[in-house]
Amino acid sequence: MALKTGADYLDSLEQLRPTTYILGERVENPYEHPLIRPMVKGVARTYDMEHDSEGARYLVTRNESGERVSRFVKLYDNSDDLLAKVRMLRFISQRIGTCFMRCTGMDAINAVGSQVYDCDRKYGTDYWKRLLAFIDTLQAGDLTVFSGVTDVKGDRSLRPSQQADPDLYLHVVSKDSQGIVVRGAKIHQTGSLCAHWGIVVPAREMQPEDKDWAISFAIPIDEEGVIHVYGRGTLEARSLDRCDLGNAEYTKFANMVIFNNVFVPWERVFLFGEHEYAGPMVRNFGNFHRHSHGGCKSGVGDVIIGAAATAAEYNGVAKTSHVSHKLSEMLKVTEAIYGCSIAASVNSSSTPSGIQLVDPLLSNISKLYEGKELHEVLRMMIEIAGGIATDLPSDKDFANAEIGELLRKYLKGRQEVSTEDRVRISRLIEKLAFESRDIVSNIHGAGSPETHRMTVLRSIDIEALKSYAKDIAGIDKTPRPGVGSKHD
Ligand SMILES: Cc1cc2nc3c(=O)[nH]c(=O)nc-3n(C[C@H](O)[C@H](O)[C@H](O)COP(=O)(O)OP(=O)(O)OC[C@H]3O[C@@H](n4cnc5c(N)ncnc54)[C@H](O)[C@@H]3O)c2cc1C
Repeated sequence: MALKTGADYLDSLEQLRPTTYILGERVENPYEHPLIRPMVKGVARTYDMEHDSEGARYLVTRNESGERVSRFVKLYDNSDDLLAKVRMLRFISQRIGTCFMRCTGMDAINAVGSQVYDCDRKYGTDYWKRLLAFIDTLQAGDLTVFSGVTDVKGDRSLRPSQQADPDLYLHVVSKDSQGIVVRGAKIHQTGSLCAHWGIVVPAREMQPEDKDWAISFAIPIDEEGVIHVYGRGTLEARSLDRCDLGNAEYTKFANMVIFNNVFVPWERVFLFGEHEYAGPMVRNFGNFHRHSHGGCKSGVGDVIIGAAATAAEYNGVAKTSHVSHKLSEMLKVTEAIYGCSIAASVNSSSTPSGIQLVDPLLSNISKLYEGKELHEVLRMMIEIAGGIATDLPSDKDFANAEIGELLRKYLKGRQEVSTEDRVRISRLIEKLAFESRDIVSNIHGAGSPETHRMTVLRSIDIEALKSYAKDIAGIDKTPRPGVGSKHD
């Protein structure tokens, strides 16, 4: 059960041969590609954290046999595991400042596990045993998994079995004694090329007629027929030019992953047609992943606030009252996002599988805050930083013998601060504010906001709330007993 170092992780990727297309080209070794490397480096950094004494406190735990394993490949046994997850994700984000993707697989193995245990008891299947064997493999190799949840979905008003093209949701096309063959495509697959494995989760509720789409399985990322197509984002020029200061080191990508008649052996199939488990599986994934965002996005929020405060300092306005006011407003939002995820861990509940579920109400409230209010935090960061959050000349201009000195002279802030440091913090601010994957993920990551609102309403008994109001207003003095929120 050796925990990998960052170097071990990079070596392990070099053994993989994923079919990859980036900007229209087939790329044989994506790991060295400038659009892929920065996220791979972020993930490598998390592996290194497993080895330093501070990081290990957050990232390393013990499995059932007492062996030290990465928290990213362990089931949530109790509320302490859920609390530890949120704290770990914030800790890492504060040091990386963007997505490091390992939480997606962690949430997926737990979501799948929470349902297949029940499925086995109902149908006599042996999915739970298969999943545990898969988790053993992950723990033994300290491996990384991406979560394949979001299908391309075609006409959103139609169920999988109603689509004109059945491949718009990933589905089974054939089976034999060895396994199944699947076809379809999952989109927005965060860091698919940073992983060793992918775990597929159905994207929605399924009816009996959708049973061929009600599937879950694990797949090596370089399996024959699996094609990774790089998804474009803003600010790519920085990575492609390999220049421009300010969090140039880490970034994020999210690919489309096409499954072009991919064979999956039975031992890695975790759901096969038991349609009633698809909905709860994806709902649990969503609740777990919104809970994860409460950790990682509050950590990114810490970087946003720190960047704004540094810009104010470099511009000579750190002590002004409006900056202090904005910083406290920004903290209000990030701590609320974090606090709801902490609370969702405390108010968690157990399942027959032993996997602990987060409180869906609080984890979705955390995500709703992120989706709306984190943008206000970004807006205030830009307000504090000034227009220099965009329009900076490139590093190549600073290196130009004719204009470099002029740029350093005219872009100076406070006398004590070098122009280079002012440029660095301004570029970090630009990246935090305008990197499209981070910004759109605040809204749609872990499901769209309407899903979060639906889950919130499903978690609350509105009739009970009405009864409290009617009681106090003297309309009806018989409040519904003991309900209103599912907190307690
Ligand atoms: C940066 C980023 C990273 C991501 N990472 C991952 C990942 O690692 N793994 C993964 O599996 N997914 C990932 N996702 C996908 C994410 O979960 C989806 O984007 C999200 O679930 C929304 O789905 P969609 O993008 O297809 O939007 P759509 O489904 O097209 O939604 C667009 C709008 O239509 C509305 N809508 C959709 N269907 C209906 C309907 N039937 N009735 C009424 N309204 C409807 C929605 O509410 C929304 O407002 C990521 C997304 C982003 C942006």
